[in-house]
Amino acid sequence: MTHPDYRQCRFLISADAVAGMPADQGREVAFAGRSNAGKSSVINALTGRRSLARTSKTPGRTRLVNFFELDAERRLVDLPGYGYARVPEAMRRHWGELMEAYLSGRRSLRGIVLIMDVRHPMRDFDRQLLAWRAARGIPCHVLLSKSDKLGRGAASATLHRVGSALRQQKVTAQLFSSTRRTGVDELRAVLDAWLVPEDAADKKNPGG
Ligand code: GDP
Repeated sequence: MTHPDYRQCRFLISADAVAGMPADQGREVAFAGRSNAGKSSVINALTGRRSLARTSKTPGRTRLVNFFELDAERRLVDLPGYGYARVPEAMRRHWGELMEAYLSGRRSLRGIVLIMDVRHPMRDFDRQLLAWRAARGIPCHVLLSKSDKLGRGAASATLHRVGSALRQQKVTAQLFSSTRRTGVDELRAVLDAWLVPEDAADKKNPGG
């Protein structure tokens, strides 16, 4: 299996329950983060497809799990943003149950990209998601987004501080800026490693 072409990504389906999700086969990578962390912009920068992130932002779809297809065997998954201050308790509960159900039961899930604003990393919901994924042994990579909002020294210092804390949990981290398109190649390399089966990655004969 070759490396995916992220620009070929297209919207597949939205689901508000596990029952509505695509068949749990192949491989997928999920994107998570607090609302406004820059998740849609990351998906845009990665795929070069503005329409995808717009799809996820369509009113009504922000609370759903949105699935995008890279090819028949591989998907990107946009998890509902969290951290809205004033959502009703019932909605908060539904969000928690949906995330738990997806993270605990999804066999095709190969890794989670967790997006945090570089100016406000490691908030409560970030820690909760990190704990959920740790309990299930799901690999995770953190993007410290909007890195252009800080000076180079301050951004590096944050990466160093947050990165050391995450390393103890075997979670990797990098800086990312959607507006400057910095960090896209580094992100792509992580996704490639999750989405291409190990034995296929160095197979010389793709037919074999
Ligand atoms: P989401 O709610 O997590 O999907 O966040 P969005 O992608 O919609 O971004 C939230 C806000 O942050 C928007 O106003 C974006 O224009 C802005 N934003 C996102 N990424 C960047 C970035 O890399 N740099 C800067 N300066 N602003 C960004």
